[in-house]
Amino acid sequence: MSEEKSLNFIEEIITADLAAGKYPDGIRTRFPPEPNGYLHIGHAKSICLNFGLADTYGGTCNLRFDDTNPSTEETEYVESIKEDIRWLGFRWANEFYASDYFEQLYGFATDLIRKGLAYVDDSTSEEIAATKGSLTEPGKESPYRNRSVEENLELFAAMRAGKYKDGEKVLRAKIDMAHPNLLLRDPVIYRIKHAHHHRTGDQWCIYPMYDFAHGQSDSIEQITHSICTLEFIHHRPLYNWFIEQLGIFPSRQYEFARLNLTYTVMSKRKLLQLVNEQHVSGWDDPRMPTISGLRRRGYTPEAIRRFCETIGVAKRENLIDVSLLEFCVREHLNKVTNRVMAVLDPVKLIITNYPEGQTEEVTAENNPEDPSAGSRQLPFSRELWIEREDFMEQPPKKFFRLGPGLMVRLKNAYIVRCDDFRKDETGRVTEIYCTHLPDSKSGNDTSGINVKGTIHWVSVPHAKTAEVRLYDRLFKSEDPSSEEGDFKEYLNPSSLEVLPQVYIEPSLAEAKPGERFQFLRKGYFCVDTDSTTDRLIFNRTVTLKDTWAKQAAKPGA
Ligand code: ATP
Ligand code: MG
Repeated sequence: MSEEKSLNFIEEIITADLAAGKYPDGIRTRFPPEPNGYLHIGHAKSICLNFGLADTYGGTCNLRFDDTNPSTEETEYVESIKEDIRWLGFRWANEFYASDYFEQLYGFATDLIRKGLAYVDDSTSEEIAATKGSLTEPGKESPYRNRSVEENLELFAAMRAGKYKDGEKVLRAKIDMAHPNLLLRDPVIYRIKHAHHHRTGDQWCIYPMYDFAHGQSDSIEQITHSICTLEFIHHRPLYNWFIEQLGIFPSRQYEFARLNLTYTVMSKRKLLQLVNEQHVSGWDDPRMPTISGLRRRGYTPEAIRRFCETIGVAKRENLIDVSLLEFCVREHLNKVTNRVMAVLDPVKLIITNYPEGQTEEVTAENNPEDPSAGSRQLPFSRELWIEREDFMEQPPKKFFRLGPGLMVRLKNAYIVRCDDFRKDETGRVTEIYCTHLPDSKSGNDTSGINVKGTIHWVSVPHAKTAEVRLYDRLFKSEDPSSEEGDFKEYLNPSSLEVLPQVYIEPSLAEAKPGERFQFLRKGYFCVDTDSTTDRLIFNRTVTLKDTWAKQAAKPGA
């Protein structure tokens, strides 16, 4: 850990615990996803925190699947979660499943019954809800609350044996129906659910509730610092109550603020709706805030980790601007990607004083930020594709690109002057005619001419084609979850723009899925997983900063 970085509140607690000699064997944390969806960037915050603390303080971090709810969980999700954590760069000490503890948890429940601290209740869930009371009113005790230990043990065993239907009986902790914290008013700890579980199959028809599974699982694994999001703060007294009554390892729960990000939603339930209703192509759609979506979009693990470090860990919820995430990925990709040339919206430029049929090689530096990235040779010829926006028929004063009479440098090649252009009957420019200054070649420029603008290009006879997918925010609203009505009403209808035919330099012909590049002046791009050698597909990860807009805004530029 660097000296100047101040500790967050959890690090402060751990530092104090260690100084007090509380954990001579080191700390133990866990990341406990429920395998009911793919991980999102919010989970990344929890992953970076839990695995990061273990790394920083010489402890261990477990991956524990919190798979106590059989109806929503699937093996596909387990696999994707493991892949995403590995990709983020973390390794778990142990891979555990709460379902592996079902027998132990059942034992804990019978311990409570024996101590007179749990009972089987025949009330319906409606009756239980109706007798909970409120913040100002105490609850009402169930008529089944005072069953004998023997009867409770027998009934609970019969529940397990499958004697009852879903909802016919529950097991409740016997705490206090007048407790100021409603969660401690005899909470349900086991329910009957005749459902197939993705790991235990049909072995069980009773399942522990979250509150009776989570803390006990922490305790079984001797987790020292159990870190969760703020909404569990009111569960903490219950977490501690079970540990105390059962006399098991005293894990401690700490709560931090969950990550919320602008222009997206961050709940698996909502993300699942987007997938099921086909608003996106899948969990890994590059517009999704999922780890797999961000990966497919071209994000790097380094950028995501950097983002999580930058936002820090706090006790109060807030909404983080997605442009901070974009800043982090831009910063990393700037260092590690090779620069290449691709023309997204092509128009043809013809150099009239360059011999027909001639080709020469020009040298292009791969990454000015990284000299070790080397350089490559690019074919240059008489006919080039350039961006349509780099030419204006009637350019304003500070337009330092092409227009009648204007000069510009072709990146890594020559200075050209625009002499003429041609339009079709609709007024669309079809060809731009230029002459080049033969003594202005980059690296050997003796022309003595200085031009302000440099544009990218691709040689027409050498160009390869590709599909490019440009992405905008998935939602029009900064915080779709807080809007009135259904969050899906706030989807951005133009979040995806497909350019079916763009021209790319020939060095990209062999680019493989997952490879990342900077398309000069156009942003950072990543080869999509749908891409093949016959049909290359690039996703735009993020734009570059718009230098033209910045220049135009600068007075006297
Ligand atoms: P969701 O509400 O998106 O379904 P969840 O909390 O139900 O999320 P879990 O699989 O239970 O998802 O979460 C695993 C861990 O990740 C938990 O410790 C949870 O607190 C944490 N986590 C989930 N969402 C966020 C978030 N937005 N920011 C930080 N941590 C999160
Ligand atoms: Mg959850």
